[in-house]
Amino acid sequence: MKKFSIILVLCFLTLNSSYGQQRVKVNAILVDSSFDAASLLKLHNAVKVLDSIYNSETFAQAVLNADFNVGNFGLTNYQILELIRSGSDNYINKPKDSSIDIRVKLFDEYFGHRNFGITDMNTRVTKTHRCYILHNDIKCYISHLAHEYMHEIGFLDERTWAFGTKTKSVPYKIGNIIETLIGNTSQCIAKDETCTK
Ligand SMILES: [Zn+2]
Repeated sequence: MKKFSIILVLCFLTLNSSYGQQRVKVNAILVDSSFDAASLLKLHNAVKVLDSIYNSETFAQAVLNADFNVGNFGLTNYQILELIRSGSDNYINKPKDSSIDIRVKLFDEYFGHRNFGITDMNTRVTKTHRCYILHNDIKCYISHLAHEYMHEIGFLDERTWAFGTKTKSVPYKIGNIIETLIGNTSQCIAKDETCTK
């Protein structure tokens, strides 16, 4: 038992020294009973991947090197990284609990306009088209959750022309960083279909 505790402490210290900060835990919070077994399995696996990415040095470097010139609320790259890894889920109202709680539910019928998921900025809940999860590679759901989590903590979708090139706001850029890190080469298709539980 004692030996086990020591190993735990060593792991903890190693993690802290390599990442230079406390480890953040990623959780999915189901806000209703809309998940079916297959979607739930994909959600759990997506959360595991996000947990390892958000705690990785590669992710930290990618965020620090990104160009967040639109919709960043004047925050520096370092502050955006800290915001993600502090677990301040509602950006202003929630305490920093080192726990990223992604609030999720599903919907069955396609909205149209390639809209496969959206975050309600009042409730800060992300809802996703069930078919999108079931019929695409899990990497599509992982990138989607990463994008939507940025809405959950307060960032908005903006597209604008800045410095002569078309550029997009923080949720797109974080989503793209995750997509690159997981090597998502599959086509993530949103189509007019209905999937039920
Ligand atoms: Zn968005």
